Parts: sequence; structure tokens; C-alpha cells
Amino acid sequence: MNRISWDQYFMAQSHLLALRSTCTRLTVGATIVRDNRIIAGGYNGSIAGGTHCIDDGCYVIDNHCVRTIHAEMNAIIQCAKFGVPTEGSTIYVTHFPCLQCCKSLIQAGVKAVYYAVDYKNHPYAMELFAQAGVKVKQVHTKNIIDLQREEKQEFIHQLLEELAEKGDQEKVNALKEQAEQLFSHE
Ligand SMILES: [Zn+2]
Ligand SMILES: [Zn+2]
Repeated sequence: MNRISWDQYFMAQSHLLALRSTCTRLTVGATIVRDNRIIAGGYNGSIAGGTHCIDDGCYVIDNHCVRTIHAEMNAIIQCAKFGVPTEGSTIYVTHFPCLQCCKSLIQAGVKAVYYAVDYKNHPYAMELFAQAGVKVKQVHTKNIIDLQREEKQEFIHQLLEELAEKGDQEKVNALKEQAEQLFSHE
């Protein structure tokens, strides 16, 4: 059994939140953490009670959906709404944040930004993060939330064992290596 890291756990939470997104242009999830505890979460969506992009299509102006509040902003706003300090916190977000969100995160006192997928990473955002002493790191978590993971792993193992009896050993070893990578948490 290999245990997932805190980074992977929180990023997995953001991937779950992304599945709640209502804007079809990009599904993003964000989790704000302090002392290894989740203090807020957000996803790309409309204002509470508003029209959803998934129902009525996006409201696009200048190639941006203006209806959507970004996941990172929603998470910060949740903290504001309930009076939870964001100073010194860490955010786990599925996509590299847009410039507006980057500025808001810095201003909210977020000290580390962990993201899964590169997304139009703005050089000015990197400059601002460096200036503010915010740590930025890419965290990969592709294969964590799979409830049938063990069955699949076992099945592939059996297939490879059978193949090994019949086939070219070198080829089977290459396939084994590929399978191992597929099921690793890295
Ligand atoms: Zn939208
Ligand atoms: Zn944003």
C-alpha cells in the first residue's frame, strides 16, 4: 500500500470540486488549506442562485465568460463570507490561475500556490508571485480518485502474466513498466 501525500490529497479535493463547475469553458477547482486543514473550496460557477452556463450557455464578452466567478475567487470569497483568515494559507488549484486571481491570492495573503495543469501561465503573474514571496509549484495527481483502481491493477497484472507465458519477454517487461507508471501516484 502506498499512502498519498498531503499535496496529492488536497489536489485530489480540487479535482473533485472541478467536477462541480457550471461553466463549460473550463472546469476548475480550488482548495484553500491552512496547517494541513481545508478551510475553503471553490469551483468555476455563477453567483449563487444565478443562471448556469451549463443550462444557458456561457455569457462571452471579449473571449471571456463574464458570468463565471473563478474557483480561486470563490474559495477566497467563502473565507471572507465566514470570517476565516487566509493569511499564510496555501491554495491547491487544478489550473494555473489567471492574472486577476493571482493578484487576489497575493493580496489575500496566500503564501503557496500549488497547481496541477499549466494554463496560459502569465509571466507577470510569476513575477508578482516571486516579488511577494509566494511559492509556486506544479503538483501531479492524475491517478488518485479511481474507486476501481485495485481491480484494474489486478486485471492488468493477470493479463501481463498470461502474456509473459506466451510472448516476447522484452515486450512484456516494457508493458509491465508502462502499467506500473499508470498506477503510480507520481
Ligand atoms: Zn461560462
Ligand atoms: Zn481566475
